[in-house]
Amino acid sequence: MSERAVMAVQQPKTADVVIIGGGIVGVSTAFQLAKRGIRDVVVVERQQLGAGATGKSGALIRCHYANVPEARLAYESLRIFRAWDDEVGAGSPGFDPVGFLRLVIPADEPQLRANVAAQQAIGIETSVVTADDLRAIEPLIRADDLTVAAFEPGSGVADPNGALYGFAEAARELGVTILTETPVTEIVTRGDRVTGVGTAAGLISTGAAVLAAGAWSDQLLRPLGLDFGLVPVRTQVVIFRWPATVDLGRKHRVIVDSTHGSWFRPEAGAATLVGVGSAARPTDPDDVDETIDVPAVDRARAVLAHRFPGFAAATMRGGWAGTYMRSPDGHPLIDQVPAVPGLWVMTGDSGTSFKTAPAIGVCLAEWITDGAAKLVDLAPFRSTRFADGQPWTDDNPYTLPTV
Ligand SMILES: Cc1cc2nc3c(=O)[nH]c(=O)nc-3n(C[C@H](O)[C@H](O)[C@H](O)COP(=O)(O)OP(=O)(O)OC[C@H]3O[C@@H](n4cnc5c(N)ncnc54)[C@H](O)[C@@H]3O)c2cc1C
Repeated sequence: MSERAVMAVQQPKTADVVIIGGGIVGVSTAFQLAKRGIRDVVVVERQQLGAGATGKSGALIRCHYANVPEARLAYESLRIFRAWDDEVGAGSPGFDPVGFLRLVIPADEPQLRANVAAQQAIGIETSVVTADDLRAIEPLIRADDLTVAAFEPGSGVADPNGALYGFAEAARELGVTILTETPVTEIVTRGDRVTGVGTAAGLISTGAAVLAAGAWSDQLLRPLGLDFGLVPVRTQVVIFRWPATVDLGRKHRVIVDSTHGSWFRPEAGAATLVGVGSAARPTDPDDVDETIDVPAVDRARAVLAHRFPGFAAATMRGGWAGTYMRSPDGHPLIDQVPAVPGLWVMTGDSGTSFKTAPAIGVCLAEWITDGAAKLVDLAPFRSTRFADGQPWTDDNPYTLPTV
């Protein structure tokens, strides 16, 4: 830890709750705790806010999932993104409701229809549209390999750092302490129960710790004898600037295209950010190559040109690689670990938990303050599901993997 960080914010010796990790989940939870009156909260971040997946996120905001629990988290989070000034009251998440399309192969039409129906039943604004409808909804799109898609007109994109800093500012205003450049070295227990969090600057005594350390979670879980089968994975995104032949004055819709395991979001400066999720591979989060590979650029260019033929001559403008934590079934673990009372975890985000983080923060804060999450039932996210031999199965899974 640098001397500047020590002098700027002194590390307290005790706290009601210590949150490990200054990503979107950590600061969202800290804010929601403070909003509920638990203000003696310390967020401990090893580097700076947004140093993990959050700072690299594509920040697509959509409610379409192949299961209801995650769709509920996304829907409740969307409400917070939309009503940010009332709900959070500091900063801006840069939410832009450009509309969202979920594309699937024709064989997956029954699953798509079932998922949309389930989402409509819980209030999500979504509908099934045909390939002909698609051409009106998104004039740039190629739709001859599609039969139907899901359309969410009110979903879109956010600015991940804007949301992160907004939560952090609001949390600080309510009294939360945020320590940066302060690595947590251990979660301290007596018997099984959490009694403190050790950092490079000493011990913070607490009865409640929230582990929100993303791809680094295992480094603190394994010394407690906890192994959830988590794998840090590296994933890549590439930006292309649009050719002058397309209308530079409009933004295209956000697209998750599971026919090619890819996604597209409009970026400032007449550009598109392309995610090529299927290239994700296991990695050491402390030794990540942050640049992009040539094959990833080629693949991103190919999927972009396929879905948006008008962008075939788009100019590659840059890109980056980031790391997230994949769980064995590709869904997050959000739980108070039964074997370690006082330890809550949100890990195994599996590359899809920026959009759900606002509601996850509410749920964790409710659980810590009231003994149970009320906004969304977190039972499906329990950390024991792997040991119990009951990993997650989606309600209506698609043939090709989600990104
Ligand atoms: C390229 C990319 C694109 C993505 N696109 C999307 C998307 O479009 N939509 C979406 O919903 N999700 C997306 N995701 C996933 C999303 O960004 C993550 O699920 C989310 O940001 C996870 O937030 P987090 O707070 O759990 O973890 P992180 O943001 O990784 O934060 C964890 C923090 O913990 C800190 N930390 C780790 N160990 C310690 C320690 N020992 N002591 C103190 N601090 C520690 C890290 O430095 C880090 O800042 C994407 C991810 C990537 C990488």
